[in-house]
Amino acid sequence: MSDAAPSRAVPQSSPGRDYQLHQEEIDAAIRRALDSGWYILGSEVREFEAEFAAFLGLRDSVGVANGTDALELALRGIGIGPGDAVYTVSHTAVATVAAIERTGAIAVLVDIDPATYTLDPMALAGAIAAAPRPGGNRPAAVIAVHLYGQMAAMPAILDIAHGAGLLVVEDCAQAHGARLEGRMAATWGDIASFSFYPTKNLGALGDGGAVATNDAAVAQRVRELRQYGWRERYVSSVPGMNSRLDELQAAVLRAKLVHLAADNARRRAIAARYDAALASCGLRLPVCAEGAEHVYHQYVVRTARRESLMSTLSERGIGSAIHYPVPVHLQPAYRGRLSIFLPLAVTERAATEVTSLPIFPALTDSEVDRVIEAILEWARTQP
Ligand SMILES: *Cc1c(COP(=O)(O)O)cnc(C)c1O
Repeated sequence: MSDAAPSRAVPQSSPGRDYQLHQEEIDAAIRRALDSGWYILGSEVREFEAEFAAFLGLRDSVGVANGTDALELALRGIGIGPGDAVYTVSHTAVATVAAIERTGAIAVLVDIDPATYTLDPMALAGAIAAAPRPGGNRPAAVIAVHLYGQMAAMPAILDIAHGAGLLVVEDCAQAHGARLEGRMAATWGDIASFSFYPTKNLGALGDGGAVATNDAAVAQRVRELRQYGWRERYVSSVPGMNSRLDELQAAVLRAKLVHLAADNARRRAIAARYDAALASCGLRLPVCAEGAEHVYHQYVVRTARRESLMSTLSERGIGSAIHYPVPVHLQPAYRGRLSIFLPLAVTERAATEVTSLPIFPALTDSEVDRVIEAILEWARTQP
Protein backbone atom coordinates (compact mmCIF):
# COMPACT_ATOMS: atom_id res chain seq x y z
CA MET A 1 0.00 0.00 0.00
CA SER A 2 1.37 3.46 -0.86
CA ASP A 3 1.69 6.01 1.88
CA ALA A 4 -0.67 8.96 2.10
CA ALA A 5 0.46 12.35 0.85
CA PRO A 6 1.75 14.45 3.76
CA SER A 7 -1.12 16.93 3.55
CA ARG A 8 -3.87 14.32 3.73
CA ALA A 9 -5.83 14.28 6.96
CA VAL A 10 -5.17 11.42 9.37
CA PRO A 11 -8.49 10.19 10.73
CA GLN A 12 -8.83 8.64 14.17
CA SER A 13 -10.52 5.62 12.61
CA SER A 14 -11.43 4.75 9.03
CA PRO A 15 -13.84 1.90 8.30
CA GLY A 16 -13.70 2.94 4.62
CA ARG A 17 -9.94 2.45 4.34
CA ASP A 18 -10.14 -0.79 6.35
CA TYR A 19 -12.75 -2.00 3.84
CA GLN A 20 -10.36 -1.18 0.98
CA LEU A 21 -7.65 -3.36 2.59
CA HIS A 22 -9.74 -6.46 1.89
CA GLN A 23 -12.05 -5.02 -0.76
CA GLU A 24 -11.88 -7.83 -3.34
CA GLU A 25 -12.74 -10.54 -0.85
CA ILE A 26 -15.49 -8.46 0.76
CA ASP A 27 -17.02 -7.54 -2.59
CA ALA A 28 -17.00 -11.20 -3.65
CA ALA A 29 -18.66 -12.20 -0.38
CA ILE A 30 -21.38 -9.57 -0.83
CA ARG A 31 -21.94 -10.71 -4.42
CA ARG A 32 -22.28 -14.31 -3.19
CA ALA A 33 -24.85 -13.30 -0.57
CA LEU A 34 -26.80 -11.17 -3.08
CA ASP A 35 -26.85 -13.96 -5.65
CA SER A 36 -28.05 -16.52 -3.11
CA GLY A 37 -31.47 -14.87 -3.00
CA TRP A 38 -31.67 -15.62 0.75
CA TYR A 39 -31.14 -12.60 2.97
CA ILE A 40 -32.06 -13.49 6.56
CA LEU A 41 -30.71 -16.39 8.67
CA GLY A 42 -29.30 -18.50 5.87
CA SER A 43 -26.02 -20.21 5.12
CA GLU A 44 -23.82 -17.09 5.53
CA VAL A 45 -24.99 -16.57 9.13
CA ARG A 46 -24.72 -20.31 9.87
CA GLU A 47 -21.20 -20.50 8.45
CA PHE A 48 -20.11 -17.30 10.17
CA GLU A 49 -21.44 -18.56 13.51
CA ALA A 50 -19.44 -21.78 13.11
CA GLU A 51 -16.28 -19.99 11.94
CA PHE A 52 -16.44 -17.38 14.68
CA ALA A 53 -17.02 -20.02 17.38
CA ALA A 54 -14.03 -21.97 16.01
CA PHE A 55 -11.90 -18.81 16.06
CA LEU A 56 -12.81 -18.28 19.71
CA GLY A 57 -12.44 -21.95 20.62
CA LEU A 58 -16.06 -22.13 21.84
CA ARG A 59 -18.88 -24.49 21.00
CA ASP A 60 -21.37 -21.87 19.82
CA SER A 61 -21.84 -18.34 18.61
CA VAL A 62 -25.17 -16.74 17.73
CA GLY A 63 -25.31 -13.83 15.29
CA VAL A 64 -27.53 -10.94 16.35
CA ALA A 65 -28.33 -7.40 15.19
CA ASN A 66 -25.75 -5.42 17.20
CA GLY A 67 -23.56 -5.45 20.31
CA THR A 68 -26.16 -3.93 22.61
CA ASP A 69 -28.65 -6.66 21.74
CA ALA A 70 -25.87 -9.26 22.13
CA LEU A 71 -25.31 -8.11 25.69
CA GLU A 72 -29.03 -8.03 26.49
CA LEU A 73 -29.50 -11.51 24.98
CA ALA A 74 -26.43 -12.86 26.82
CA LEU A 75 -27.88 -11.61 30.12
CA ARG A 76 -31.33 -13.02 29.34
CA GLY A 77 -29.71 -16.23 28.11
CA ILE A 78 -28.14 -16.88 31.51
CA GLY A 79 -31.41 -16.05 33.26
CA ILE A 80 -30.98 -12.42 34.29
CA GLY A 81 -34.27 -10.54 34.45
CA PRO A 82 -36.30 -7.87 36.27
CA GLY A 83 -34.92 -6.87 39.66
CA ASP A 84 -31.67 -8.85 39.40
CA ALA A 85 -28.38 -7.13 40.13
CA VAL A 86 -25.71 -6.74 37.45
CA TYR A 87 -22.37 -5.26 38.46
CA THR A 88 -20.24 -3.44 35.90
CA VAL A 89 -18.24 -0.27 35.26
CA SER A 90 -19.28 3.27 34.40
CA HIS A 91 -16.20 3.84 32.19
CA THR A 92 -17.65 2.03 29.16
CA ALA A 93 -19.94 2.52 26.18
CA VAL A 94 -23.41 3.52 27.40
CA ALA A 95 -24.56 0.34 25.63
CA THR A 96 -23.24 -1.81 28.48
CA VAL A 97 -25.61 -0.21 30.98
CA ALA A 98 -28.45 0.21 28.46
CA ALA A 99 -28.42 -3.57 27.88
CA ILE A 100 -28.62 -4.27 31.61
CA GLU A 101 -31.63 -1.99 31.98
CA ARG A 102 -33.39 -3.53 28.98
CA THR A 103 -33.47 -6.86 30.82
CA GLY A 104 -35.12 -5.12 33.77
CA ALA A 105 -32.06 -5.76 35.94
CA ILE A 106 -30.49 -3.17 38.22
CA ALA A 107 -27.05 -1.89 37.26
CA VAL A 108 -24.54 -1.50 40.10
CA LEU A 109 -21.51 0.46 38.94
CA VAL A 110 -18.04 0.09 40.43
CA ASP A 111 -14.73 1.85 39.85
CA ILE A 112 -11.91 0.91 37.49
CA ASP A 113 -8.23 0.14 37.83
CA PRO A 114 -6.27 3.34 37.05
CA ALA A 115 -3.64 1.52 34.97
CA THR A 116 -5.84 -0.58 32.68
CA TYR A 117 -9.19 1.30 32.87
CA THR A 118 -10.96 -2.04 33.41
CA LEU A 119 -13.10 -3.21 36.34
CA ASP A 120 -11.21 -3.05 39.65
CA PRO A 121 -11.63 -6.48 41.31
CA MET A 122 -11.29 -4.98 44.81
CA ALA A 123 -14.08 -2.50 44.08
CA LEU A 124 -16.22 -5.38 42.83
CA ALA A 125 -15.57 -7.39 45.99
CA GLY A 126 -16.49 -4.35 48.09
CA ALA A 127 -19.70 -3.72 46.18
CA ILE A 128 -20.82 -7.35 46.44
CA ALA A 129 -20.07 -7.41 50.17
CA ALA A 130 -21.87 -4.10 50.76
CA ALA A 131 -25.09 -5.06 48.99
CA PRO A 132 -27.04 -8.13 49.99
CA ARG A 133 -28.32 -9.76 46.79
CA PRO A 134 -31.65 -8.24 45.81
CA GLY A 135 -34.33 -10.84 45.22
CA GLY A 136 -32.89 -13.49 47.55
CA ASN A 137 -31.71 -16.39 45.44
CA ARG A 138 -32.41 -14.72 42.10
CA PRO A 139 -29.35 -14.79 39.83
CA ALA A 140 -26.93 -11.91 39.69
CA ALA A 141 -24.10 -11.23 37.30
CA VAL A 142 -20.98 -9.23 36.62
CA ILE A 143 -20.20 -7.77 33.20
CA ALA A 144 -16.45 -7.55 32.70
CA VAL A 145 -15.81 -5.04 29.90
CA HIS A 146 -12.55 -5.72 28.04
CA LEU A 147 -11.89 -2.07 27.29
CA TYR A 148 -9.75 -0.58 24.49
CA GLY A 149 -8.62 -4.07 23.40
CA GLN A 150 -7.30 -5.26 26.73
CA MET A 151 -8.97 -7.89 28.87
CA ALA A 152 -10.15 -7.12 32.39
CA ALA A 153 -8.45 -8.95 35.30
CA MET A 154 -10.45 -12.13 34.72
CA PRO A 155 -8.79 -14.50 37.22
CA ALA A 156 -9.58 -12.17 40.15
CA ILE A 157 -13.01 -11.22 38.80
CA LEU A 158 -14.00 -14.87 38.32
CA ASP A 159 -12.78 -15.78 41.82
CA ILE A 160 -14.80 -13.00 43.41
CA ALA A 161 -17.92 -13.40 41.28
CA HIS A 162 -18.16 -17.18 41.25
CA GLY A 163 -17.21 -17.21 44.96
CA ALA A 164 -20.30 -15.08 45.65
CA GLY A 165 -22.54 -17.11 43.30
CA LEU A 166 -22.61 -14.52 40.52
CA LEU A 167 -22.40 -15.34 36.81
CA VAL A 168 -19.83 -13.59 34.62
CA VAL A 169 -20.54 -12.01 31.24
CA GLU A 170 -17.67 -10.77 29.09
CA ASP A 171 -18.39 -7.64 27.02
CA CYS A 172 -15.93 -8.32 24.18
CA ALA A 173 -17.10 -5.48 21.89
CA GLN A 174 -13.55 -4.04 21.90
CA ALA A 175 -11.58 -7.25 22.35
CA HIS A 176 -11.98 -9.60 19.34
CA GLY A 177 -8.92 -11.84 19.54
CA ALA A 178 -7.48 -10.38 22.78
CA ARG A 179 -5.96 -12.87 25.20
CA LEU A 180 -4.94 -13.12 28.81
CA GLU A 181 -2.52 -15.81 29.96
CA GLY A 182 -2.84 -17.22 26.44
CA ARG A 183 -6.62 -17.65 26.72
CA MET A 184 -8.91 -15.76 24.39
CA ALA A 185 -11.49 -13.19 25.47
CA ALA A 186 -14.97 -14.81 25.58
CA THR A 187 -13.60 -18.14 26.88
CA TRP A 188 -13.26 -17.08 30.53
CA GLY A 189 -16.72 -16.21 31.74
CA ASP A 190 -20.13 -17.89 31.54
CA ILE A 191 -21.11 -16.12 28.32
CA ALA A 192 -19.76 -13.37 26.07
CA SER A 193 -21.08 -10.68 23.76
CA PHE A 194 -19.51 -9.03 20.70
CA SER A 195 -20.30 -5.98 18.58
CA PHE A 196 -19.36 -5.81 14.90
CA TYR A 197 -19.95 -2.04 14.59
CA PRO A 198 -17.78 -0.91 11.64
CA THR A 199 -14.91 0.54 13.73
CA LYS A 200 -14.50 -2.50 16.00
CA ASN A 201 -11.54 -4.86 15.53
CA LEU A 202 -13.88 -7.18 13.62
CA GLY A 203 -16.28 -4.75 11.96
CA ALA A 204 -19.19 -5.28 9.59
CA LEU A 205 -20.27 -2.70 6.96
CA GLY A 206 -23.31 -1.92 9.08
CA ASP A 207 -24.55 -3.25 12.39
CA GLY A 208 -23.95 -6.71 13.79
CA GLY A 209 -23.25 -8.58 16.99
CA ALA A 210 -22.85 -12.05 18.45
CA VAL A 211 -23.32 -14.00 21.65
CA ALA A 212 -20.74 -16.73 22.34
CA THR A 213 -20.89 -19.57 24.85
CA ASN A 214 -19.86 -23.16 25.49
CA ASP A 215 -23.29 -23.96 26.93
CA ALA A 216 -25.47 -25.49 24.19
CA ALA A 217 -28.71 -24.94 26.12
CA VAL A 218 -27.92 -21.26 26.67
CA ALA A 219 -27.00 -20.85 22.99
CA GLN A 220 -30.31 -22.45 22.04
CA ARG A 221 -32.21 -20.05 24.33
CA VAL A 222 -30.43 -17.08 22.73
CA ARG A 223 -31.30 -18.40 19.25
CA GLU A 224 -34.96 -18.50 20.29
CA LEU A 225 -34.91 -15.07 21.91
CA ARG A 226 -33.34 -13.42 18.83
CA GLN A 227 -36.31 -14.44 16.67
CA TYR A 228 -39.68 -13.94 18.40
CA GLY A 229 -38.99 -16.71 20.90
CA TRP A 230 -39.51 -19.28 18.17
CA ARG A 231 -38.44 -22.83 18.95
CA GLU A 232 -40.14 -23.90 15.72
CA ARG A 233 -41.39 -21.57 13.03
CA TYR A 234 -44.48 -19.58 14.06
CA VAL A 235 -44.48 -21.05 17.58
CA SER A 236 -43.24 -18.61 20.22
CA SER A 237 -42.28 -20.61 23.29
CA VAL A 238 -40.94 -17.55 25.13
CA PRO A 239 -41.50 -13.82 24.59
CA GLY A 240 -38.63 -12.94 22.27
CA MET A 241 -37.52 -10.10 20.07
CA ASN A 242 -36.20 -9.57 16.56
CA SER A 243 -32.44 -9.27 16.62
CA ARG A 244 -31.04 -11.13 13.63
CA LEU A 245 -27.66 -10.75 11.94
CA ASP A 246 -28.36 -10.43 8.22
CA GLU A 247 -26.77 -12.50 5.47
CA LEU A 248 -24.90 -9.59 3.85
CA GLN A 249 -23.20 -8.60 7.12
CA ALA A 250 -22.43 -12.25 7.90
CA ALA A 251 -20.79 -12.62 4.47
CA VAL A 252 -18.69 -9.48 5.08
CA LEU A 253 -17.71 -10.73 8.54
CA ARG A 254 -16.63 -14.12 7.12
CA ALA A 255 -14.35 -12.33 4.65
CA LYS A 256 -12.89 -10.13 7.40
CA LEU A 257 -12.56 -12.83 10.08
CA VAL A 258 -9.85 -14.49 7.98
CA HIS A 259 -7.77 -11.31 8.40
CA LEU A 260 -8.57 -10.55 12.04
CA ALA A 261 -5.30 -11.92 13.44
CA ALA A 262 -3.24 -9.94 10.90
CA ASP A 263 -5.33 -6.80 11.43
CA ASN A 264 -4.81 -7.09 15.19
CA ALA A 265 -1.07 -7.60 14.62
CA ARG A 266 -1.04 -4.38 12.56
CA ARG A 267 -2.77 -2.55 15.44
CA ARG A 268 -0.12 -3.90 17.82
CA ALA A 269 2.68 -2.76 15.49
CA ILE A 270 1.21 0.75 15.40
CA ALA A 271 0.92 0.74 19.19
CA ALA A 272 4.57 -0.36 19.50
CA ARG A 273 5.60 2.56 17.29
CA TYR A 274 3.67 5.00 19.50
CA ASP A 275 5.05 3.33 22.66
CA ALA A 276 8.66 3.75 21.55
CA ALA A 277 8.39 7.30 20.22
CA LEU A 278 6.20 8.78 22.96
CA ALA A 279 7.86 7.09 25.94
CA SER A 280 9.24 10.28 27.47
CA CYS A 281 6.98 13.06 26.19
CA GLY A 282 4.98 13.43 29.41
CA LEU A 283 1.84 11.64 28.24
CA ARG A 284 0.69 8.59 30.15
CA LEU A 285 0.73 5.74 27.64
CA PRO A 286 -1.37 2.55 27.66
CA VAL A 287 -0.29 -0.05 30.21
CA CYS A 288 -0.34 -3.65 29.05
CA ALA A 289 -1.02 -5.84 32.07
CA GLU A 290 1.20 -8.85 32.87
CA GLY A 291 0.19 -11.78 30.65
CA ALA A 292 -2.18 -9.69 28.51
CA GLU A 293 -2.21 -9.71 24.71
CA HIS A 294 -3.69 -6.30 23.89
CA VAL A 295 -5.43 -5.83 20.52
CA TYR A 296 -5.51 -2.02 20.69
CA HIS A 297 -9.06 -1.31 19.68
CA GLN A 298 -8.00 2.13 20.90
CA TYR A 299 -4.59 3.58 21.77
CA VAL A 300 -5.48 5.78 24.73
CA VAL A 301 -3.09 8.37 26.15
CA ARG A 302 -3.67 10.46 29.19
CA THR A 303 -2.87 14.08 30.08
CA ALA A 304 -4.33 16.83 32.21
CA ARG A 305 -3.82 19.08 29.13
CA ARG A 306 -6.09 17.11 26.86
CA GLU A 307 -7.74 20.08 25.19
CA SER A 308 -4.49 21.62 24.03
CA LEU A 309 -3.22 18.23 22.80
CA MET A 310 -6.40 17.58 20.82
CA SER A 311 -6.52 21.05 19.31
CA THR A 312 -2.85 20.85 18.28
CA LEU A 313 -3.56 17.54 16.55
CA SER A 314 -6.67 18.93 14.92
CA GLU A 315 -4.73 21.96 13.56
CA ARG A 316 -2.43 19.47 11.81
CA GLY A 317 -5.32 17.51 10.33
CA ILE A 318 -4.99 14.64 12.79
CA GLY A 319 -8.08 13.12 14.32
CA SER A 320 -8.42 12.11 17.96
CA ALA A 321 -11.40 11.11 20.08
CA ILE A 322 -12.46 10.67 23.70
CA HIS A 323 -13.60 7.27 24.91
CA TYR A 324 -15.53 8.24 27.01
CA PRO A 325 -16.01 11.93 27.89
CA VAL A 326 -18.91 11.38 30.33
CA PRO A 327 -19.16 8.24 32.49
CA VAL A 328 -22.50 6.47 32.21
CA HIS A 329 -23.60 7.43 35.76
CA LEU A 330 -23.21 11.14 34.88
CA GLN A 331 -25.12 10.96 31.56
CA PRO A 332 -28.43 12.87 31.51
CA ALA A 333 -30.40 9.62 31.07
CA TYR A 334 -28.83 7.94 34.11
CA ARG A 335 -27.61 10.68 36.44
CA GLY A 336 -28.73 10.21 40.02
CA ARG A 337 -30.66 7.01 39.49
CA LEU A 338 -28.02 4.28 39.11
CA SER A 339 -26.54 2.39 42.04
CA ILE A 340 -22.88 3.21 42.41
CA PHE A 341 -20.46 1.65 44.87
CA LEU A 342 -18.48 4.43 46.54
CA PRO A 343 -17.69 7.58 44.54
CA LEU A 344 -16.26 6.50 41.18
CA ALA A 345 -13.18 8.67 41.60
CA VAL A 346 -10.84 6.87 39.18
CA THR A 347 -13.58 6.73 36.53
CA GLU A 348 -14.47 10.42 36.82
CA ARG A 349 -10.85 11.55 36.67
CA ALA A 350 -10.04 9.31 33.67
CA ALA A 351 -12.99 10.77 31.77
CA THR A 352 -11.40 14.23 31.94
CA GLU A 353 -7.93 13.11 30.80
CA VAL A 354 -8.09 10.31 28.21
CA THR A 355 -7.62 10.76 24.45
CA SER A 356 -7.62 8.09 21.75
CA LEU A 357 -5.00 8.53 19.00
CA PRO A 358 -5.47 7.33 15.41
CA ILE A 359 -5.26 3.53 15.19
CA PHE A 360 -6.77 1.19 12.58
CA PRO A 361 -5.28 -1.51 10.35
CA ALA A 362 -5.04 0.66 7.21
CA LEU A 363 -3.15 3.46 9.02
CA THR A 364 0.30 3.76 7.41
CA ASP A 365 3.67 4.08 9.14
CA SER A 366 4.16 7.55 7.69
CA GLU A 367 0.79 8.64 9.09
CA VAL A 368 1.79 7.24 12.48
CA ASP A 369 5.02 9.24 12.21
CA ARG A 370 3.03 12.41 11.49
CA VAL A 371 0.97 11.83 14.62
CA ILE A 372 4.16 11.24 16.63
CA GLU A 373 5.85 14.39 15.27
CA ALA A 374 2.81 16.50 16.09
CA ILE A 375 2.68 15.15 19.65
CA LEU A 376 6.42 15.64 20.26
CA GLU A 377 6.15 19.20 18.97
CA TRP A 378 3.19 19.79 21.30
CA ALA A 379 5.12 18.26 24.21
CA ARG A 380 8.01 20.70 23.72
CA THR A 381 5.64 23.64 24.27
CA GLN A 382 4.28 22.18 27.52
CA PRO A 383 5.56 23.42 30.91
C1 LIG B 1 -19.54 -0.84 20.81
C2 LIG B 1 -19.78 -1.34 22.19
C3 LIG B 1 -21.01 -1.88 22.58
C4 LIG B 1 -22.26 -1.79 21.74
O1 LIG B 1 -22.20 -2.30 20.49
P1 LIG B 1 -23.26 -1.80 19.36
O2 LIG B 1 -22.98 -2.76 18.25
O3 LIG B 1 -22.92 -0.39 19.03
O4 LIG B 1 -24.62 -1.97 19.92
C5 LIG B 1 -21.12 -2.43 23.85
N1 LIG B 1 -20.08 -2.43 24.70
C6 LIG B 1 -18.89 -1.88 24.38
C7 LIG B 1 -17.77 -1.90 25.37
C8 LIG B 1 -18.70 -1.30 23.12
O5 LIG B 1 -17.52 -0.75 22.81
